[in-house]
Amino acid sequence: LCSRRDEVSLAEEAPTIFSKVIDKSLPADIIYEDEKCLAFRDITPQAPVHFLVIPKVQIPRLSAARDGDAELLGHLLLVAKNEAKKEGLSEGYRVVINDGPHGAQSVYHLHIHSPGGTADDLAPG
Ligand code: IMP
Repeated sequence: LCSRRDEVSLAEEAPTIFSKVIDKSLPADIIYEDEKCLAFRDITPQAPVHFLVIPKVQIPRLSAARDGDAELLGHLLLVAKNEAKKEGLSEGYRVVINDGPHGAQSVYHLHIHSPGGTADDLAPG
């Protein structure tokens, strides 16, 4: 019998649906790609513009990031702001990372959400 804790750590080691987006075995609306990361539109957008930025290496969640990931994490943020600009979000947007069960994380491959649009369209959280 697995405890809840074991279930979470096993889930974190498994490849996720985002691995298939990275290897292109699952179609996605990719808006940016480089050697370190990928940005693509969220399949269930929570705002008029809603894309995700993910690293190509599988860091399961923000809390699993290491000191050595600093440059990569910074790169993801810069890609998020560059893509937000390209998407015309000149009046602002959110940058959200959900971490773990209490952070409402559902896909255990680190991702930055960048939802944007009018303030009325932006759901909290
Ligand atoms: P989380 O709740 O922060 O883990 O967010 C996961 C996000 O991934 C959700 O907003 C989902 O809509 C999104 N998502 C799940 N599967 C896919 C997919 O195949 N393509 C694009 N977005 C996806």
